[in-house]
Amino acid sequence: MGKYTVKFKCHHSGHCCRDVVCLPTPWDVLRIAMNTKRDPREFIEFFTPDEIDGVSKSDPTWLIIGKERYIMALFRTAEEGCFFLDQDTFYCSIYKHRPILCRLYPFKLHETKEETFSHFTLHKNVGCPRFRDGIMDTAPLYELYLQDKMHQEDYVTLVDSFNALEDADRTPESFLDLFVEVVHEEKG
Ligand code: SF4
Ligand code: SF4
Repeated sequence: MGKYTVKFKCHHSGHCCRDVVCLPTPWDVLRIAMNTKRDPREFIEFFTPDEIDGVSKSDPTWLIIGKERYIMALFRTAEEGCFFLDQDTFYCSIYKHRPILCRLYPFKLHETKEETFSHFTLHKNVGCPRFRDGIMDTAPLYELYLQDKMHQEDYVTLVDSFNALEDADRTPESFLDLFVEVVHEEKG
């Protein structure tokens, strides 16, 4: 148990969709926009460091505008949680297209010293009740992890480009202009 499988079953407590801020990559944003036909400005918001816990100040995905920093997140409210949480069923309304981060929660990857796959466990310090009455294969989880790693690298490249711009009129939302044009072209 651990290398090939990990004991876990989601019981849809809703905690991760209600109480946790979801930080998508631009690839997640594009996939959601293309499949829901929504403009990302409808479901994306940007948090300053004072508005979000658990993101290191040195995280490379902070957008820097003047003296302020912003990080891209799925829109949420304190009362209803994530923008995509169905308020009748409390299930994710974009389940097939949800961000990779949502798919990897609450799994924790362990790698060998050579940075190859070792096994998965469940994160201890998260609010997930961590029910263990199910069995998940770890191979698809590791594939997701590798995909997310590549997406994070692309994300950092985009953020670096944005942070290097000298446009005084930049807003956090204008970060979306670096990659959402593709969606508009698809729609047109
Ligand atoms: S996108 Fe779906 S799975 Fe992810 S936090 Fe929102 S409602 Fe939950
Ligand atoms: S917190 Fe855990 S049990 Fe609850 S919805 Fe999220 S993954 Fe499922």
